[in-house]
Amino acid sequence: LSHLDRTYKAGHSELFVLRNINLTIELGEFVTIMGPSGAGKSTLLNVLAMLDDQWRGEFLFEDAAVHTMNRKQRAELARRRIGMVFQSYHLLEDLTVAENIDLPLSYKDMHRAERQALVADTLDRFSIVGKKDLYPSQLSGGQQQLVGIARAVIHKPALLVADEPTGNLHSAQAAEIMDLFKQLNREGTTVIQVTHSDLNATYGSRTLELRDGWLTRDTAHPDLQRSQNGTQAR
Ligand code: ATP
Ligand code: MG
Repeated sequence: LSHLDRTYKAGHSELFVLRNINLTIELGEFVTIMGPSGAGKSTLLNVLAMLDDQWRGEFLFEDAAVHTMNRKQRAELARRRIGMVFQSYHLLEDLTVAENIDLPLSYKDMHRAERQALVADTLDRFSIVGKKDLYPSQLSGGQQQLVGIARAVIHKPALLVADEPTGNLHSAQAAEIMDLFKQLNREGTTVIQVTHSDLNATYGSRTLELRDGWLTRDTAHPDLQRSQNGTQAR
């Protein structure tokens, strides 16, 4: 991101929500974004996930110039390369677990059998195989978030973007989700999470701080969870 601004209209004036953001995130990083409520964290994530296009500045993703794309090109790129996890899960209530995680594959040109096998593998990997025919309302919060993450990564995105993914979960469930992020990151997925939790931040190796729309801190630090959970298999 280079000289990126995001404003909202407030009467006749403009309210700056992101101000002159300059930021480079390398492939394979695990980045945490923190900062007070209203600082612009979700706004920044929505830009990064290409859900928002009302910004000014430059945004390069891999070798693509996002700021020159139209809405359709951006949506296609996001569907191929990015997965998004939300605090409130955002599952489709009238689809089953298996149908929810299959959704991103509907944009792919995949054979039916291949697609079914991938869904089955993913259900297995995320330990939700026994829940595949249930509806989201029949799951606990932690289980719903596992489904949300399974759906976000089933198409093997390069980038996983998560907005307070453990905000509604108990600490044991939160640790399980963070271990999963860690594992995906080790396998090569770039992870960017927003969190209010200092513990969640220890899973990443770089923490950014936003305040009033400004990027006020960018700290590289050791990944404290590596030694503790490094050998944990799922
Ligand atoms: P939290 O920790 O509470 O989730 P946040 O850092 O994610 O906060 P944002 O949701 O990014 O904060 O909001 C940043 C600012 O943008 C806030 O002042 C908010 O009021 C403003 N804002 C967000 N969405 C809109 C909107 N649709 N119209 C006007 N202002 C908005
Ligand atoms: Mg937010």
